[in-house]
Amino acid sequence: MPVLFVGHGSPMNVVEDNPWSRGFRALGGLVPRPRAILAVSAHWYADGSFVTANERPETIHDFGGFPEELYRVQYPAPGDPALARRVVALAGEGRASLATDWGLDHGTWSVLVHMLPAADVPVVQLSVDARLPPEGHLALGRALSPLRDEGVLILASGNLTHDLRHAFRSMSAGVTATPDWARRFDEAAAAALERHDQAWLAGALRTEDGRRSHPTPDHWLPLLYAAGAAAPGEPVRFPVTGFDLSSLSMRAAIIG
Ligand code: ZN
Repeated sequence: MPVLFVGHGSPMNVVEDNPWSRGFRALGGLVPRPRAILAVSAHWYADGSFVTANERPETIHDFGGFPEELYRVQYPAPGDPALARRVVALAGEGRASLATDWGLDHGTWSVLVHMLPAADVPVVQLSVDARLPPEGHLALGRALSPLRDEGVLILASGNLTHDLRHAFRSMSAGVTATPDWARRFDEAAAAALERHDQAWLAGALRTEDGRRSHPTPDHWLPLLYAAGAAAPGEPVRFPVTGFDLSSLSMRAAIIG
C-alpha cells in the first residue's frame, strides 16, 4: 500500500465543488482500495500518542463559524479496534495507548468524505504527539510501516504551509497571490520528500521559511509520519498542487 499525505485546507472543501474537493475525490482512484485506514491528523495534536479504539468513531465537527450544512455532515466509517491494538503494539511498549474519547476529526473526514464517500473502509486515528522532537515522529512513522503490507493505508493530513492568520488576512483583503516564502517552502518540502531527505524534513521548521510557514507545528508534523513510513527510493507523486487562500499549500503526495 502506498503512503498518502493530503493537504486538507478549509473545512469548506467538504461542501464546495472546487479544485481541492475534486482532487480529494480523484485520490480514491489513485491508491488501491485499503482494508483499513490509519489517519494521522493535524487536528489531534495531543500530549501523547493515542489511537482511537471505538467500534463506531464519532464524526467530530472541530471548527467554528462555518455554515450549518457543514455541521450536519457525517462520516460513519466503522472503527477497527484490532487495528488500533496493532498500532499500539507496533509503536512499542509504553509509547502509545488506546483512546475512546476521540473520533474522526475534520483533518480526516473532510478528505475521506470525497475520497471514499461510501464510508465503508474502517478508519483509526493516531494523534500527533506534541511532546516528540521531529525525529520521534519520523521514527513512529517507520515503526508503523509494516501496516502497509497488511493492506492499511497510512493517511497523513496537514498542510505543507499553514499560516491561518495570513490566509484569513489575504481572504479579507481579496489577495490571492501566493507569497514567495510559501512557494519556496512548499517546493523545498516537495523536493525533500522526493529525495527521501528525512534530515531536511526534521530540521525544516528551524529554517526562516519554515518558521514563516508554520507559526505552530501541528499541520507540518503529519508529513513526518508519511515520510517515516516510506522506504528510500520509492516513487513520489503529487496528484494535487497549488495554494488556497493565498498561502495555504494544498499539495498532496503519494509515496510508493
Ligand atoms: Zn487543518
